[in-house]
Amino acid sequence: MFVVPDVSDLRTRIGRWKAAGERVALVPTMGNLHDGHMSLVQLARANADRVVVSVFVNPMQFAPGEDFESYPRTEQDDRDRLVDAGVDALFLPDTEEIYPGGTDSVTYVEVPGLSDMLCGRFRDGHFRGVATIVTKLFNLVDPDVAVFGEKDYQQLQVIRRLAHDLCFAVEVISAPTHREADGLAMSSRNRYLDARERAIAPALFQALRQTAAALAVGIGEFEQLASQGAAMLESAGMRPDYFEILDAETLGEPQSGRDLVVMAAAWLGRARLIDNLRVTVPGQD
Ligand code: AMP
Repeated sequence: MFVVPDVSDLRTRIGRWKAAGERVALVPTMGNLHDGHMSLVQLARANADRVVVSVFVNPMQFAPGEDFESYPRTEQDDRDRLVDAGVDALFLPDTEEIYPGGTDSVTYVEVPGLSDMLCGRFRDGHFRGVATIVTKLFNLVDPDVAVFGEKDYQQLQVIRRLAHDLCFAVEVISAPTHREADGLAMSSRNRYLDARERAIAPALFQALRQTAAALAVGIGEFEQLASQGAAMLESAGMRPDYFEILDAETLGEPQSGRDLVVMAAAWLGRARLIDNLRVTVPGQD
């Protein structure tokens, strides 16, 4: 595996692969890799000749006061896992390489609307940071395919939208959420949970599942179901930021006859957990 810290080296290597007619997949990550990340790598492998993984803790997507400094960084473990998975190149830039002039006055990409709702209401500038780094990576790698996790459902929609709106010739594909045996979605931030909190954490998935089950049998009182979902999180000891039922494609108001998604974010100790479940409602073709 090539470990490539700088942009020009990355372009040269990928340029060679592309000139040879090889298909390149990109998997952007912030490192501290777990089995969820590795499922994205596998999907990338199945869809391309060459797999590039980026590991970059992107300061621009952390709001002031968030965990940028303490975000888990496990470079050697990450490298080992990626070598074992047969990854061709690890792009491992430092902050200066990506933001030579700093993050304050950098040209940025914003996907309006989608970025302002849900997590965007609580994490100022988060999706601007995500959209900007993903755009930079798309420009640097020029991937044929890019893989993202459904775990970050809003992020996935933001990226699909930016790829479409900015005419990137990339196929954005998604991988299902990888979970622990008790249903908790794998996440680097699960490390912040102590033993008591870790035992409580699956309540998030349980609340989503209970809500999804009600929707799947045709119960249509969305507001009531969403408040019940939030109440379940509270009674488990979490502090929900939101619990919402939305149209699965547009993230707009639920429409009859279309797929829904139940999305939630909640604080548990110092961890902010997010998760979601898609639901096919009855009576569709
Ligand atoms: P992150 O390192 O948290 O920025 O995540 C990098 C990529 O991995 C994103 O596309 C995430 O959606 C995806 N990802 C993170 N956790 C999971 C999971 N449990 N299952 C599937 N994909 C995930």
